[in-house]
Amino acid sequence: MPNTLHTEHIQQLQTLYQGSELLVALFDASDTLRYANPAFRQAYHLAETAMPTWVQLMRDNHAEHTGTVIRTADFDTWLGSALSRRGKQAYRMLESDLHDGRWLMMTETVNEAGWMLCTAVDISSLAAGKRSLRTARDLALRAASSDALTGLSNRRHILAQLETQLARSGTHCVAILDIDFFKRINDSHGHPFGDLVLMDFARYLQNQLRRSDGIGRLGGEEFMLVLPDTPLAQASLLMHQLLSGLHPPRPIGALADFHYSCSGGLTLLQPGDSVQSAYHRADAALYRAKQHGRNRIELG
Ligand code: GH3
Ligand code: MG
Ligand code: MG
Repeated sequence: MPNTLHTEHIQQLQTLYQGSELLVALFDASDTLRYANPAFRQAYHLAETAMPTWVQLMRDNHAEHTGTVIRTADFDTWLGSALSRRGKQAYRMLESDLHDGRWLMMTETVNEAGWMLCTAVDISSLAAGKRSLRTARDLALRAASSDALTGLSNRRHILAQLETQLARSGTHCVAILDIDFFKRINDSHGHPFGDLVLMDFARYLQNQLRRSDGIGRLGGEEFMLVLPDTPLAQASLLMHQLLSGLHPPRPIGALADFHYSCSGGLTLLQPGDSVQSAYHRADAALYRAKQHGRNRIELG
């Protein structure tokens, strides 16, 4: 008999999950909850049939002070940072504490189709006395991979994601995006307003891209997208959609009808590429996009 789950096994798993203290949840590729067992629903204050997206779940938990303890002055920055790590690896473990006082060891497993199995076990008794140290360690690790202003992956973390894709077989793309005339935006409206534009752009990218895509800030007004399992034609379409989606006015700060645009260089990862060679091609393409009038994508 091949070692696969048959209908009978799935039925048994279902009853085991229903009664287990282990938290179990299944999210689809768009990060919408598709199944959660009672232990998971109880921990995250979810009604029996509620199937929110993970983002909505975190937002509700934060507003109601239930579920995950979210240590942040600004929820959206926290969310950006959490999303910069969520679903990027086939498997990861993380620790999380709940408002009800429990301490969880969570696992996230992602398959090729983008579905995610999430499990968590209560380790409150194991971690007793070590929590503050472990929390401090996790906050430091998170800070080491996040860009402080936008919460996106920082330069080191996004380049590490590029390196991960270079080591995987398949068709992957990388793009560099740079906001057009950003110096002029700073000069006209002030540096704090420029920061708001950077944050707006970061949120915009996160809302447009898939959970498996890497989004990082390379520095200044320059961003990198790592697009796993994406052929060049699909990536190119996505880039053009990203640019045209920026065309309508975007209310930023006190300016209700503010506009900005960006330019991009896109390239397909090639066999034998290094981080440097892929970066260089995307950057050279970006340079051409600037030279050819901005607000456009060039392929490298
Ligand atoms: P181009 O269309 O060719 O990209 O021109 P540009 O003005 O966008 O590019 P340039 O490189 O000349 O200027 C980038 C500016 O970004 C200069 C720098 O002061 C500003 N900048 C860099 N980091 C930050 C930041 O964190 N916040 C703000 N507000 N401005 C920043
Ligand atoms: Mg620029
Ligand atoms: Mg620049």
